[in-house]
Amino acid sequence: MTIAVFSGVLSNAAALNDDFEYNNERFADLQMLRYKVSGFESLPLREKELIYYLSEAALCGRDILFDQNGAYNLRIRKMLEAVYTTYKGDRNANDFREMEVYLKRVWFSNGIHHHYGYHKLPANFSQDFFRDALKNADPKLLPLRKGQTIDQLCDEVFPVIFDPSVMAVRVNQKDGEDLIKTSAENYYGSDVTQAEAEAFYEAMKDTADPEPIMYGLNSRLVNKNGKLRELPWVENGLYGQAISKINFWLKKAATVADTPEQRAVIHELINFYKTGNLKKFDEYCILWLKDTESLVDFTNGFIESYGDPLGLKASWEAFANFKDIEATKRTEKLSANAQWFEDHSPVDSRFKKKECKGISAKVITAAILGGDLYPSTAIGINLPNSNWIRSAHGSKSVTIGNLTDAYNKAAHGNGFNDEFVDDSTIKELIDTYGDVCDDLHTDLHECLGHGSGKVLEGVGDDALKAYGSTIEEARADLFGLYYIADEKLVELGLTPNMEAYKSQYYHFIMNGLLTQLVRIEPGKDIEEAHMRDRALIARWVYEHGKPQNVIELVKRAGKTYVQINNFEALRHLFGELLAEVQRIKSEGDFEGARRLVENYAVKVDSELHEEILARYEALDLAPYKGFINPVYKAEKDAKGKIVDIKIDYTEGYAEQMLRYSRDYGFLPFEN
Ligand code: ZN
Repeated sequence: MTIAVFSGVLSNAAALNDDFEYNNERFADLQMLRYKVSGFESLPLREKELIYYLSEAALCGRDILFDQNGAYNLRIRKMLEAVYTTYKGDRNANDFREMEVYLKRVWFSNGIHHHYGYHKLPANFSQDFFRDALKNADPKLLPLRKGQTIDQLCDEVFPVIFDPSVMAVRVNQKDGEDLIKTSAENYYGSDVTQAEAEAFYEAMKDTADPEPIMYGLNSRLVNKNGKLRELPWVENGLYGQAISKINFWLKKAATVADTPEQRAVIHELINFYKTGNLKKFDEYCILWLKDTESLVDFTNGFIESYGDPLGLKASWEAFANFKDIEATKRTEKLSANAQWFEDHSPVDSRFKKKECKGISAKVITAAILGGDLYPSTAIGINLPNSNWIRSAHGSKSVTIGNLTDAYNKAAHGNGFNDEFVDDSTIKELIDTYGDVCDDLHTDLHECLGHGSGKVLEGVGDDALKAYGSTIEEARADLFGLYYIADEKLVELGLTPNMEAYKSQYYHFIMNGLLTQLVRIEPGKDIEEAHMRDRALIARWVYEHGKPQNVIELVKRAGKTYVQINNFEALRHLFGELLAEVQRIKSEGDFEGARRLVENYAVKVDSELHEEILARYEALDLAPYKGFINPVYKAEKDAKGKIVDIKIDYTEGYAEQMLRYSRDYGFLPFEN
């Protein structure tokens, strides 16, 4: 599970004391940033080499994600790239420029749907232009089936690009619709229905198994001659061409692993990729979460299921990182006190862990981002996702320090808070404590929130179905919100006083009620799980605090602002909602989850939305950010032995994407 960055960045006070260029190119609703891998140069050669191999492995699965996100994505990307790289006409003409923006957005989203809102990206260039350009492109670059003409290719694929009603949404979560039939993701064959998929996995489940595998995690479910069957993503199966390359680099990584424990982790992962056996995946997860001594760490695999409307199938993601030893002292204070937090939380004791085991947390420096973490990324991660492993063995949390830092530096002085915060006391609180509390909330969310509580026996991982991700994120956020205002944090030296938390409360409510709406297009619902989670919490406490007038929405000069009248009462409401959300999760109360999410987390007030969008537009900021990776180059001696790894930050966005397509494009255009 992950935490995504808030839509605004808290502090205006981030010091700009280095000359690293964080901001890069900007297009559509996106701002590209760079992140600095501080400390890489001074790592021992062995660790550098390990990061190098892991970063190669992290890039090899890019095509897997494109294909998971939609059956036409690889073909469309190849068509666009063919025109983009060879077009001889006027590259400044409107059609070409619009196609370029579209291609950059497709790269960013790893497909043709918005990475966060899930709706189809608009293609604002003409079909005639594109058809002509394709006809003039090198046919060897085009995804043509045997005997297929370019016109036939266009006729087949153009509706997917240009007709807004075809494959309109990647992950549809609309209550009452067939979520699989109406979603464009490629996790289920086009003729599989939601009812069929649910029945298939219901029948597969062994409810008596205390250690259930994550059913369906690593396969596509298809209908073959009237019979449903899984096509597993393994070395000799679906996506095998990419998976074997991943394994190639993982094998090299194993030779320079930090510790024997880490070597075992890598071998188990290779094994899983070879066999697709989900028991092996569980074994790998357990080994991975117990490896807390290695300086370098990584994720590589089918991890998060936000992209499957049923929450079963996991998208491919990867990243490599190393521990920020100084900053980790902060998270270690939390994990060392995990039991205290569990014992004192406001949830029913039946849903509490009697014994918090194996909770580890660290602050890390990201070295490479891949798959579903690139270019849009999480700033915190808590894994593994299997409920039984989390109860029996614990979980590992990371806060990604250098990415948060890059967000803060890039947002320095962007005018966001000046527009949306009109209370000078609050502004000062945010400037003084915003960054500290934001980091702390991420730590609490990942390390303690996701790791807290327990699910009652017999309740499956997918009991809450399409609402599962939102409820889980709300649970983690609420845990963080409840505890960030606790004196325990002052006692642990994590917050300086009992005022600091107010900056986080204000920002969370402002974001959940108002400012996160900048990411939603007019007329659209809130779809993404983290956004739904924030809307759910903010609107629920607003609603339930009304009798005591805890939160007000005040209007000044036609602009809406948040005003918090009673911070203590607000904390109490967070606690109350945490208890309810934990009950829903622990009991697998699908109806309860549905009610909460549908009532609080989905719909948008159109008048308020319009106002927020207009105010945001005037600031001229991009609501979404993503990162360009650094480039690692191995320097070898005459015998081919690696003597150093150099890091380079000069590669441009398009340059990087084209290189990835060329050097890591391992999959056929249809899978
Ligand atoms: Zn999370």
